[in-house]
Amino acid sequence: MVRADTAVVDAGGGTVLQGLIDTHCHPFEYAWLKNNLDLRGTSNVVAFRLRIQAGVLRARPGEWVVGLGWDQEAFPDRRMPTKDDIDGVSPANPVLVTRVCGHIGLVNSVAISRLGLGSRAGPLFERDQAGELTGIVKEGALTEVWASIPRTTEGLAAGLQVVESEGARLGLTALHTIVSPDGFREELAALALLASEGRLALSHRVYVPPDSLEFLEERKLRLKLAGPRARLNGVKIFTDGSLGARTAALREPYADDPSNSGLLAYGDDELTALVEKVDSMGMQAIVHAIGDRAVEQAIGALSNVTGATNPKRHRIEHAGLLPRDLRSQMARHGIRAAVQPCFVTSDTWAVERLGEERIRDLYPFRSMLSEGLVASGGSDCPVESLSPVLGVWAAMTRGGIVPEEAVEMDDALKMYTSMAASNGLDERRFVEGAPADLTLLDSAVAGMHPALFRKVKPLATVVEGTPVHSYGLD
Ligand SMILES: [Zn+2]
Repeated sequence: MVRADTAVVDAGGGTVLQGLIDTHCHPFEYAWLKNNLDLRGTSNVVAFRLRIQAGVLRARPGEWVVGLGWDQEAFPDRRMPTKDDIDGVSPANPVLVTRVCGHIGLVNSVAISRLGLGSRAGPLFERDQAGELTGIVKEGALTEVWASIPRTTEGLAAGLQVVESEGARLGLTALHTIVSPDGFREELAALALLASEGRLALSHRVYVPPDSLEFLEERKLRLKLAGPRARLNGVKIFTDGSLGARTAALREPYADDPSNSGLLAYGDDELTALVEKVDSMGMQAIVHAIGDRAVEQAIGALSNVTGATNPKRHRIEHAGLLPRDLRSQMARHGIRAAVQPCFVTSDTWAVERLGEERIRDLYPFRSMLSEGLVASGGSDCPVESLSPVLGVWAAMTRGGIVPEEAVEMDDALKMYTSMAASNGLDERRFVEGAPADLTLLDSAVAGMHPALFRKVKPLATVVEGTPVHSYGLD
């Protein structure tokens, strides 16, 4: 419908799509990574120290300098770094740099004195033979240091805006934004701040951890996050871990670790009670389940509240190992899925974990769609790139892994448009007369060879009628 005030743009032979949506991402975690020092790939202590020095030079005096991803296994002598390695380049700033595993960190002397760690005892605060702290902090001690690093609402809001502008450039109009279990207060405050000031570029469908439910009620956040740009949709519940770490819960043991079948986070009754609580609050339950045992448990819990049509659109996140019996149970109860096509191309080791037989049922997108499941696409960024173009490409090509489960372009695009909108309770945004959410691609994609799709560039992104990205268009 072209009204008098409707802008008319020549798409120049490109493709106009309903706005692309990422239905599973962690923008605050991504912003944190973008903001902090990336220490991955440092191959010796000198390089490690130089990179920390660069971070210190960019920081204001006294400000925390945080880095992630070092690995002493990559250093020639495999020696754990100590505070003596970094004190010389950080005389006035507290520093915390965490190992690639996330379970061990190194702090400098300024951090030790600022946090009063000098007198702390116990195995989590490593000491040398002279009894002095080495700066290495482990597990609970590391968590304690993390918790004392200030995360301001303004800082988080600024970080989110950086991620939003990247998302807009990549063609995204909306994110299903998962807030962190350990930072939900500040992250929700940042979202509410940006929403109230009209400063959000993209739409956010917000999913919170179970531990935040009381806080939400206390602060009346469900009212504050009820607008078109930032809307609290539901609760994200974890039921298992990951295939990479062999913590995803499987029905049969891991092929490369026959004594291990992974772990479930909840008992069946516990999970059912949690799902029922979320449902009774009128919210959507989105349940992380990767292994087939975890998916089975999630279906068991969700099927108590879905009825025949699943009006609240409860869904399973990742839904990794999904054999036919579980697919048909999901279809029968109308349980939705939110999947991450780039996992297929990244999890190149999955065949070692699962063996040749089970790998056929890992991320079986084509079977899911042909059997009537709704499966929306997402990135799990920062686990994968935020780019929905890469996601569509991965759904169509699968990097050659179980190619029978690759989907056609129409279906791959639906995963990031109509199915994504439906999974976020947003289909009413796409009726005639509603403000436009559009993504304009630079090429005519119909009939394009799937392998070429990853080169497609978004030229313009429009959210509720407002261009949030446009390249060379008037
Ligand atoms: Zn995730």
